[in-house]
Amino acid sequence: MAKSVVWFKKDLRVQDNAALASAAKSGSLCCIYIVEPSLWRSPDASKQHYAFVLESLRDLYVALRRLGTTLHVLTGEACEVLARLHAQTQFDTLYSHQETGNYASYMRDLAVKGWCKKENIAWHEPIQFGVFRGHLNRDEWQGRWNQHNSQALIPVPEHILSFAPADGWGKPPSAEQLGMSLLDPPQRQRGGRTQALEVLDDFLNHRSESYRGGISSPLTAPTACSRISPYLTHGCVSVREVFQRVAHAIESEPTEDTRRAKGLRSMVSRLYWHCHFIQKLESEPALEFQNMHRGYDGLRENDWNEERFSALSEGRCGWPMIDACVAMLKHTGWINFRMRALIVSTAAYPLWLHWKPVGNWLAQHFLDYEPGIHWSQMQMQSGTTGINIPRIYNPIKQAQDHDPRGVFVRKWIPALRQVPDLWIFEPWTIPNDLTRNVSKVSPPLIAPPIVDLETATRIAKQKLFERRAQPEVLAEKSAVLVKHGSRKRPANRAKPKTVPPQTASSQHTLDF
Ligand SMILES: Cc1cc2nc3c(=O)[nH]c(=O)nc-3n(C[C@H](O)[C@H](O)[C@H](O)COP(=O)(O)OP(=O)(O)OC[C@H]3O[C@@H](n4cnc5c(N)ncnc54)[C@H](O)[C@@H]3O)c2cc1C
Repeated sequence: MAKSVVWFKKDLRVQDNAALASAAKSGSLCCIYIVEPSLWRSPDASKQHYAFVLESLRDLYVALRRLGTTLHVLTGEACEVLARLHAQTQFDTLYSHQETGNYASYMRDLAVKGWCKKENIAWHEPIQFGVFRGHLNRDEWQGRWNQHNSQALIPVPEHILSFAPADGWGKPPSAEQLGMSLLDPPQRQRGGRTQALEVLDDFLNHRSESYRGGISSPLTAPTACSRISPYLTHGCVSVREVFQRVAHAIESEPTEDTRRAKGLRSMVSRLYWHCHFIQKLESEPALEFQNMHRGYDGLRENDWNEERFSALSEGRCGWPMIDACVAMLKHTGWINFRMRALIVSTAAYPLWLHWKPVGNWLAQHFLDYEPGIHWSQMQMQSGTTGINIPRIYNPIKQAQDHDPRGVFVRKWIPALRQVPDLWIFEPWTIPNDLTRNVSKVSPPLIAPPIVDLETATRIAKQKLFERRAQPEVLAEKSAVLVKHGSRKRPANRAKPKTVPPQTASSQHTLDF
């Protein structure tokens, strides 16, 4: 009888799991998760990701036990663990979902491919969401995405025959033993499919009403947004399952114009963007460390300023909205899209910091860190894709728009609680004598901004636009567009009747 190993990676569920279902059909199987020390020591990993994975593995273990099998958590580099397992069990097939991860996982997969070839082991890698490997015609991408996500969910196998490795396998190592960054925000979301379904149900049944209009302000976003992202990142639920649940909720609305229906349609667009962005990294793994448009090479790389980065990352860059967002991120492991874009725009323009080290710092802090989305967004918000119109957000104006009474800022920066509304977003402008008279606070409230916003932004814009205007940079733009750009729906083509995804480039024009 055929013997297969099912290698769980970022697909920590038994539902809608093509790798598990195919292996179960083919004979007996052994389910494993590999704790790979070198990956966990990467500069984009942190304890919160690991803790979330361990929580999710506990749920997965229970689900597999119910199916009559179990999960073996093994520690070591993938090839070495697979070789050990093979020596003990002589398995002939390996199943795992295709993964579009960071560069380290990409190199690991190449090594595993080589090992499988050498040992004559077949490696089946079904896709797990609308991201496609190999030659891709970008014009066909949207249709393929729709097709993949409209297919019925893959049923959970009813009968699993399993085999086990001869050795007992020990407990997973601690984050400390793995030597990774120990960041673990006290109020982060907990891992596992049970939690994922609770979050999704709560969103669909109660919170989705506030999605439209609620997702841009950091005050309302924590409850208005779905908060499904870390569960998608680690595969506790599939994109397809979430997509179909949301589509079903839309259909159950009395008309397509209800606030909830409109909000849910926007959410579907975002599920589409999820894959759209990951596809960029799948098509070009170097995006994690190389400018998408090479014409921007050298724009900021040689101007690194550690003092500015420390001020930003320690939440003391001086603009209250930015420092409050960093404080929230450190406490919860999450912040909404608009505030992520604001942090990165501030880092990239007035602070003129290269996106790569800033991106590693944020990756450790985002519980939902998904390399494909993250690095594409880091580059987009820093102006190095060459195909997006640069968005340069003003941290004072964004605060006025999204936190007009300073409630968010006061919540996360206790030193500003007594500051009157008039100065809340620019506390360095309070006249000294007034500070003493009108409130109990005495200067300095918080450190003043590390650079002058207006001057620093003007210089940054000038450098960026000079680069954009260079003939060789303009010439290269269309090649980047063909490879990575989103496709607008041709005007003469009818809109699909089901939930229509909006193109990723339309995200800035949506009115949230
Ligand atoms: C600089 C930067 C870095 C980011 N890094 C990540 C990351 O590492 N992982 C991640 O999941 N998202 C990332 N995002 C996108 C977005 O901020 C998060 O997906 C969102 O805040 C997650 O919260 P939610 O699940 O409540 O989102 P919802 O608004 O409820 O959206 C539902 C899902 O759609 C997807 N989605 C939403 N917005 C986007 C977007 N703009 N691009 C691609 N997919 C999207 C996510 O899978 C999300 O879970 C980043 C955005 C920026 C600006």
